[in-house]
Amino acid sequence: MDNQLYSEFIEAIKEALQNNNQALAVAKIQEYFDLQNNIPLNIAITGETGSGKSTFVNAFRGIDSEDEEAAPTDCVETISEVTPYPHPKYPNVTLWDLPGIGSTKFPADKYLELVEFEKFDFFIIISDTRFRENDWKLAQEIQKIGKKFYYVRSKIDNDLRHQRKKKDFNEERTLARIKKNCIQGLRDQGVNSPQVFLVSSFELHLYDFHLLHETLERELPAHKRNALLLAMPNINLEIINKKKEAFQAKIKYLATLSAAAAAVPVPGLSVGVDVALLVGVVTKYIVGFGLDSSSLKRLSRSSGVPLKDLMVVIVSPLAATEITSDLILKLLAQCVNTATLMAAEEGSRYIPILGIPAAMGLSFVTTYEALNMFLNMLAEDAERVLKRVLGLNTSV
Ligand code: GDP
Repeated sequence: MDNQLYSEFIEAIKEALQNNNQALAVAKIQEYFDLQNNIPLNIAITGETGSGKSTFVNAFRGIDSEDEEAAPTDCVETISEVTPYPHPKYPNVTLWDLPGIGSTKFPADKYLELVEFEKFDFFIIISDTRFRENDWKLAQEIQKIGKKFYYVRSKIDNDLRHQRKKKDFNEERTLARIKKNCIQGLRDQGVNSPQVFLVSSFELHLYDFHLLHETLERELPAHKRNALLLAMPNINLEIINKKKEAFQAKIKYLATLSAAAAAVPVPGLSVGVDVALLVGVVTKYIVGFGLDSSSLKRLSRSSGVPLKDLMVVIVSPLAATEITSDLILKLLAQCVNTATLMAAEEGSRYIPILGIPAAMGLSFVTTYEALNMFLNMLAEDAERVLKRVLGLNTSV
């Protein structure tokens, strides 16, 4: 968010507080969060029927095919319409299931126009074998309009399973060979520097899915990167760490927001606003790390690890529960440092002249410390849950 808009929010919050309108101040804080989560990211997924598009769309969104929000898999008929599948937690991120370019309803030369290509940030072209004429033709059309595309060679687990039976099987060499063949095939058809990623939608933590994410992250405009990151399933510790860093980078601004609220000399008001702010932010952390109850249930279903086994490794009392002011206050009270600071903050407000700047500083520190504490707790829980899913030692 640009600085101008940020300052406007601070002003609006201050004004609401000066008018003794705490509800409006809290609503403004909420609006500020929502704005940050509203950057649209539209990902087009295309490929022939049966190539594994729907399974990929579901896996990317952390959904299994039994989920009511799932893209239907194993459809015999070609899906002839463009179907949006919003991310269950970040509806600003949508994966679009596009019909194969060869289907009669969408002839090759009209394809991009018919699917309204302008709205897509990039295209993912999926194939479960070598890429065919339709795939490279589409790539050439996408290249012409100056958009990015990436090839996903799907069902790589199947290939490995078949190859494993061979006497001199070597996984690394087999993967390298499949990739080389895909790239060579596309080059032969005139696709410049094709980017090919080997993926199993059943095991996103293996093979090239993480490379696909890293490439997308690098090639997306800066303001869209966070939208992609937050919507990413927690496939490895690195993603969890990146999410943590992205949240951490915002803490300074949030603490300033809180300090702005404290600068208004109305006794007893700042803590209420701070707590509302903390409730909002902590809820965002929980969703971002996939620790809310619906995400945990989804993870349990898609990973096959019973929910109770996931719950066992969660240490903080924040996951899989509704975050309320009472819960936040209770946790703050348990943390001596923050509790002392909060008491001091309220007291300092009564000191004439000195009171306002002192309260400002303390509120900044309180919010800063509290958010860091909650963020660390939740990132550690997310790590333990991931390790449990991957069958690793869960002590962080
Ligand atoms: P779509 O028609 O392109 O949407 O293809 P689907 O997603 O319906 O997948 C077709 C079949 O391939 C289904 O039986 C899927 O379970 C299977 N499939 C999809 N992705 C993978 C994968 O990564 N590995 C394996 N082994 N099977 C997959």
